[in-house]
Amino acid sequence: MNGTGFRRLVRGLYQDSCSVCGLHLVAVTGHSICEAAHVIPFELSSNDDPRNGLGLCPVHHWCFDEGLFTVTPEYRVKVSPVLDSTRPTEDRLVEFDSTVIRLPDRVEYRPAREALEWHQRHKLLIA
Ligand SMILES: [Zn+2]
Repeated sequence: MNGTGFRRLVRGLYQDSCSVCGLHLVAVTGHSICEAAHVIPFELSSNDDPRNGLGLCPVHHWCFDEGLFTVTPEYRVKVSPVLDSTRPTEDRLVEFDSTVIRLPDRVEYRPAREALEWHQRHKLLIA
């Protein structure tokens, strides 16, 4: 599968919505705010399987890639301990801690446990 196919498939599976915050916007151009994020970066995995993907808005895509949060194998948001909810604006991410993400209806397309474990081990920023 090429990158375009991955993006189209993942956006469809997540119904053009961010799996963390639920933001769903599609412009009159047809462009969706939902981005197809790789759980294990494509540069490392060459893995365009949708089970290595998550539908995320640009803000949460950036935070996920930067390790400010991860998603546990139980599909719960786990926010990095480097974030401090008492600092201005960081509470906006911390508030999602422990919430269950929105998932594709079809179980076989949900993110793979191994990919999520990899992300938590290698990307999540620890204090
Ligand atoms: Zn979002």
